[in-house]
Amino acid sequence: MTATLVDRIGLLVRNADDDGLPDELPGAAVVIEDGRIAWIGRAAGAPDADARIDADGRCVVPGFVDSHTHLVFAGDRSAEFEARMAGRPYTAGGIRTTVAATRAASDEALLARATGLVAEARRGGTTTIEIKSGYGLTVEDEARALRLAATLTPETTLLGAHVVPPEHAHDPEGYVDLVVGPMLTACAPHARWIDVFCDRGAFTVDQAERILVAGRDAGLGLRLHAAQLAPSPAVRLAVELGAASVDHCTHLEQADVDALAGGTTVATLLPGAEFSTRSPYPDARRLLDAGGTVALASDCNPGSSFTTSMSFCIALAVREMGMTPREALHAATAGGAAALRRDDVGVLRIGARADLLLLDAPSYVHLAYRPGVPLVTVL
Ligand SMILES: [Zn+2]
Repeated sequence: MTATLVDRIGLLVRNADDDGLPDELPGAAVVIEDGRIAWIGRAAGAPDADARIDADGRCVVPGFVDSHTHLVFAGDRSAEFEARMAGRPYTAGGIRTTVAATRAASDEALLARATGLVAEARRGGTTTIEIKSGYGLTVEDEARALRLAATLTPETTLLGAHVVPPEHAHDPEGYVDLVVGPMLTACAPHARWIDVFCDRGAFTVDQAERILVAGRDAGLGLRLHAAQLAPSPAVRLAVELGAASVDHCTHLEQADVDALAGGTTVATLLPGAEFSTRSPYPDARRLLDAGGTVALASDCNPGSSFTTSMSFCIALAVREMGMTPREALHAATAGGAAALRRDDVGVLRIGARADLLLLDAPSYVHLAYRPGVPLVTVL
């Protein structure tokens, strides 16, 4: 087994302070062994190792945890983006364009696209990624998407309830029957989570509850897209059902904020979607001040947020959502880990996964201070 010493770290950000070391440790070093953190402390006391990386005074932070992406798809919707920027509003209907292209694509093409996007995300510092289905919307196509996604990450999510597909347009309840029946049975072996797009133009709160309860009964963890386009009781439903995360949370009422602050459900904010649909951003400050747990994720998808860049999301959260740079970094790392109910990522402590980002900067503040600049190297 080879031990690697990462030495002369100017500032180490850990998202932990319960082990006798501060959360932000200047003059630090880390020893990595077998993909895990074996030692962490002040550089002056670092043990010997087989190999050494000199951080040269730069900042090291935990790898980004992107807890919300839709990477299994085909096609291109840049024309839709261009039209939207020229004034057409965003609706959930554009998803059907991607569904048609995805159904027509080969396994090889879908996997090549998703693999390329996971690699792009990793170059940007994402070391843990969740991937949803949701562009197949038949039993076979959803199972295929999850089978392919499971080759790239253990964090796979059945989103059969993304939109009602065209062939069920006049029978949405029949489609929900399909999702909670044969689709769930075929997909559960390849999925860790189940999710529903509960919003205007997608699924109702009652339909979402039915699908989430069925998913829970099949052994899947719960996530929910809610309150992206309008306030919705679905946020409180997610908290009541013990969902790991409710995602978007752009339009919250006070009762939603109170429920999130009092429960175990993470509010996952997706500012790439607001950016790409030119919509008002969620109020992260309000959630944080109430005591809620906030995650930031990319929502990478071809329609409403085609970015894998978590640094970009951090910059948006600081500029537009009232978060401090430290809060935004926490949300993009430990927040994402909480949204996936993981304690081995998003944190730098002994025994955690050695997912370290070396920033070409003396401080994490530069992630927001220098937007659009590639500062990140995955160690
Ligand atoms: Zn999404």
